Amino acid sequence: MMTTQRTVYVNGDYVAEGEARVSVFDRGFLFADGVYEVCSVLDGKLVDFAGHMRRLARSAGELELPLPWNDDELLAIHRELIRRNALEEGMVYLQLTRGSAGDRDFAYPDASTPPTLVLFTQAKSLVDNLGGKQGIRIATQPDLRWARRDIKTVQLLYPAMAKMAAKAAGADDAWMVEAGRITEGASNNAWMLTHEGTLVTRELSHAILPGITRSVVMEVAEALSLEVEERGFSVEEAQAAKECFVTSASSFVTPVIAVDDVAIGDGRPGEVALKLREAYIEESRRRAI
Ligand code: PMP
Repeated sequence: MMTTQRTVYVNGDYVAEGEARVSVFDRGFLFADGVYEVCSVLDGKLVDFAGHMRRLARSAGELELPLPWNDDELLAIHRELIRRNALEEGMVYLQLTRGSAGDRDFAYPDASTPPTLVLFTQAKSLVDNLGGKQGIRIATQPDLRWARRDIKTVQLLYPAMAKMAAKAAGADDAWMVEAGRITEGASNNAWMLTHEGTLVTRELSHAILPGITRSVVMEVAEALSLEVEERGFSVEEAQAAKECFVTSASSFVTPVIAVDDVAIGDGRPGEVALKLREAYIEESRRRAI
């Protein structure tokens, strides 16, 4: 079977995915010494690009990782990849690692070692998405990740394990729990709607990733006159909530219909979650660049 090769970006070059090369000594490969971002694409345009690039610069700064590209250069690379792959809807994945000093050594290499920058596209139906419409089932897992989850590193083994454990338990995705409170989803932020009509999502700290979608959904919620409270909540509170949902760049707003086999509300996607999903998508189409 003939498979079409995507064009990917590696350190200044646009190459067919089968031709792309990164050193086996790359610190991203050996130490997960790297950070990433995922921007969604609607109508061939980038959603929340500025927010994602701000967070990338912050993640890199926290790890003293060089980022020798400015936002305009990164935007040009994103757009060129979208163009070359004729991407209408999906994501652009960006990964920045500390590069390769040509050997394995825990110590960071000196400043003469250039970082590795890789970007690729993934085509995906984001708007017309089954989970987004029908809702997803969540299974909770202990949060066994490191203590700097505010930095978007490529150390994603535990989130992958948590997602697999959730699937083994008959659910679609995992929410992670620490000290009796939900931190966040394996790859999204967790929300609930109380019976009093307040949206609740955990406050920002080192315990969770500051979701870009989370912050835009907060703005959208306020425009819809919905009150948002930033605080942690327990599994029991979520199970007793009116609605639950998750937010992320690739899932937008996705209703949660069960947490650990307890139906949320009437077990169907919540009205407010679906309204927020629609409003977020509409706003994103308008703002996309
Ligand atoms: N939390 C975690 C752990 C994530 O991996 C993600 C998705 N990258 C999010 C939250 C959501 O962030 P965003 O809205 O910026 O995609």
